[in-house]
Amino acid sequence: MTDNRHRRQPPQPHDGTCTGTRLVHAGRGPGFADGIVNPPVWRASTILFDTLADLDAGIAAPDAGLYYGRRGTPTQWALEDALTGLEPGAAGTKLFVSGVAAITTALLAVVKAGDHVLITDSAYEPTRLFADQTLARFGVTTTYFDPRVGSSIADLIQPNTSAILLESPGSLSFEVQDVPAITTIARARNIVTMIDNTWATPLRLQPLALGCDISIQALTKYVGGHSDVMMGSATATQALWPRLKAATYRLGHSVSADDAALVLRGLRTLELRLDRAEASALTVARWLEGHHHVDRVLHPALPSHPDHALWRRDFAGATGLFGFVLKQGTRADTAALIDDLRHFGIGFSWGGYESLILPVEIDSIRTATATPLPGPLLRLSIGLEDPADLIADLDAGLARYGAQF
Ligand SMILES: *Cc1c(COP(=O)(O)O)cnc(C)c1O
Repeated sequence: MTDNRHRRQPPQPHDGTCTGTRLVHAGRGPGFADGIVNPPVWRASTILFDTLADLDAGIAAPDAGLYYGRRGTPTQWALEDALTGLEPGAAGTKLFVSGVAAITTALLAVVKAGDHVLITDSAYEPTRLFADQTLARFGVTTTYFDPRVGSSIADLIQPNTSAILLESPGSLSFEVQDVPAITTIARARNIVTMIDNTWATPLRLQPLALGCDISIQALTKYVGGHSDVMMGSATATQALWPRLKAATYRLGHSVSADDAALVLRGLRTLELRLDRAEASALTVARWLEGHHHVDRVLHPALPSHPDHALWRRDFAGATGLFGFVLKQGTRADTAALIDDLRHFGIGFSWGGYESLILPVEIDSIRTATATPLPGPLLRLSIGLEDPADLIADLDAGLARYGAQF
């Protein structure tokens, strides 16, 4: 057989090296790029086969090398393998056009008609919409649970419960979940656990090592890191990998090589950016905690956070996303604070190099738990600016807000 087909190397599993080193080597297997440091951007739909024998060899093993564009090229494989190599216990990773697509596909890989799923009440809102509007149409019922449920999750399990979806910390409310307590109970009953790990990334929490079966990220956020690309990933253990892979293929997911190259570029600097965002966010959070207009700061790395001990036990560090609650105020008072900020953009998403602020509502989304707050909740994504500039900006904003009373 003439070798016109790039062979796919087996992914290199987590090899125990330190994080920065792994981020440099991740996904750069031999044969991908003939000495070029980064895998080239291989745009492809059709892959040509030299002969019928080559075509037949491809049909017999379509995942062994280049086959058809939807199955990816060395560009997408490099990113998949890099993400697999970051998590101990991972067998493989699939990429999706968004974080939401990763979550919905992971659920579809596991549930069937008549099943029941348990979803944390702190879950990302589109995840809830998918469960309530789409899974429900196929006869799958959902119960939302208190993110702080811990081992009491056992009381919520039904005979037909097939999946539990975690998110820790919640990206609006920042409760930390007792992941090992939940996964221990789930494993004993053959229930699949999946976690939205977007806040932590594998650098700060390694969910498969804590007993989860599928670890999901919106790569749109920290891994992409530059607010210019949408993508999601799902990384599975050996036990779940065949189901995840099959569901992804059948649902037709495929990401562009250009986008995969952008996300790979982001991945190389992930540790540097997270370290900076983590340190600056803590500085800003501590400052906010001492401000007289602030009721509380929702940041799991602060000792005042109710789940701080759990966070210390399971996480290797924090990132740059947290919230703070004002003591009082209306939408107009919030506008006084945020409209004239110089260094915080008002917008969705997070995890980019630039800082963002967003007023968020939790009680209107939730059904299992209520969190009455005295005033508006604002979420900050701290970027790579100097924290002194960010604090000065927030200080001026809080003065404008304070002038309303
Ligand atoms: C943004 C986000 C998602 C969805 O990612 P998209 O790429 O925007 O679809 C999922 N989970 C969390 C926690 C998020 O913040």
